[in-house]
Amino acid sequence: MCVTIYKESPRKWLVRSRFAASGRGAIRRTPETLTVQESHYQSLPISVSPTTNEFAKLRQSMVDSQLRARGICDERVLEAMLFVPREEFVPEVLQADAYGDWPQPIGAGQTISQPYTVAYMAQAAQLRGEEKVLEVGTGSGYGAAVLSVLVAEVHTIERLPALAHRACELLKKLDFGNVHVHIGDGSLGLPHEAPFDAIIVTAAGKCLPSAYVDQLTDGGRIVIPIGQQKSSQHLYRIYRKRGEVIADDLGRFAFVPLIGDQGWESP
Ligand code: SAH
Repeated sequence: MCVTIYKESPRKWLVRSRFAASGRGAIRRTPETLTVQESHYQSLPISVSPTTNEFAKLRQSMVDSQLRARGICDERVLEAMLFVPREEFVPEVLQADAYGDWPQPIGAGQTISQPYTVAYMAQAAQLRGEEKVLEVGTGSGYGAAVLSVLVAEVHTIERLPALAHRACELLKKLDFGNVHVHIGDGSLGLPHEAPFDAIIVTAAGKCLPSAYVDQLTDGGRIVIPIGQQKSSQHLYRIYRKRGEVIADDLGRFAFVPLIGDQGWESP
């Protein structure tokens, strides 16, 4: 089922419980959970060019010129972006460009979001430190690592097993111990770990999956890109408060599609 978002005023959108049938056979698999201890995959080769120190300088420059200068002002988010070594999460051949102001390919036709988008979504989720968070779309694991610094517990779900295993191994190697990686269709949320204080969706849906609203604590936030076209979406922050669900339109963004029961059909 899908929740439709209605425009109420220029920047306020009201989420109504008008459910649309998905129209697809509901074969629902229980998500598989990877624990960092059990993962048996080889770690990625880590290149050290530029040097660790040069990467640190590039990271600082990224925070100053791409984030602070463009209005990211949550100091905890800025610190997390300064802490996480993004170069570890991109393919070895692209490491020199790890702090570029653009998304990068991570294999399987997927991308790691540009630094600004990662920081913007984390800031939009209004995280204070005690939260249990669900990230939909693990990809490289970079977004999960940033969230790991900001909250108490992160659950991240990825539909492509190869990406999930690789991210899990990397997060283990880098000691992001409060991240739990799951394999499955994240368009259905992660019911057995719900409720979540925040749900951050890093792939774009056609609509807001109702499962996310159901799996959110009272006062919780969902940050999700939604668009009727695969190439262009708006990012929304959706609050659930005392039974009411309200959405803010945060503007136009571009994400890869959310593929699954409550998202787009697999190409
Ligand atoms: N957060 C990631 C960005 C990944 S891009 C990072 O920091 O690298 C979005 C990811 O969402 C892709 O890896 C894609 O495979 C995944 N995805 C798409 N639909 C999904 C679904 N229904 N459930 C889980 N993951 C999904």
